[in-house]
Amino acid sequence: MGPPGSGKGTQGALLAKDLGIEHIAVGDLLRAEVDAGTSLGRQVAATMQAGDLISDDLITELMAPKVTKAAQNGGYILDGFPRTLMQAVSARQTADEFNVDADIVIWLDVSPQALIARLAGRAGEQGRADDTAETISRRLQVYEEATRPLLDYYQGRGLLATVDASGDTSDVHAAVMAAIGQRLPA
Ligand code: ADP
Repeated sequence: MGPPGSGKGTQGALLAKDLGIEHIAVGDLLRAEVDAGTSLGRQVAATMQAGDLISDDLITELMAPKVTKAAQNGGYILDGFPRTLMQAVSARQTADEFNVDADIVIWLDVSPQALIARLAGRAGEQGRADDTAETISRRLQVYEEATRPLLDYYQGRGLLATVDASGDTSDVHAAVMAAIGQRLPA
């Protein structure tokens, strides 16, 4: 977990490679639906472009089959999910039904100033529709309101590991691996 620009996508991909498990990135899945012009893609495009969250129902519908399949293949890293308390509670219910639980929740902690600088830089490189100045500030606000409260939720469940994510990619990856190693000794 982490705010927009904290490096969830980059770190999720590195971690998946190291651990040999699937990286399920909700934002990427949504962008693929938009690019393919599917019915779901058409429903979410404007909301994403505005920097707002997609409804919990649509997200659950998108995620459930992917997670179930990855669970049968040895595990997964969720990137960008859950992002609301409702999503977290519904994910927990589903996990309980299948008798599985999250091993660790990693929070990528970065100062707001660094986030804004990174997101502005990425806008020039990737041309993501939601990396305009206006949308960036909306996404950061949505993160504070809807997603940050989840940190307390996962802290309370004893799953939260906070990693300083302000350094470069390889430093952050090493810190993430160390956090995992501490919690889940091989
Ligand atoms: P970032 O974390 O940089 O905002 P993502 O690629 O994870 O990037 O998400 C991009 C957009 O996709 C979000 O702004 C939101 O519109 C939508 N989205 C992604 N994950 C979720 C989620 N779990 N619930 C609702 N909307 C989501």
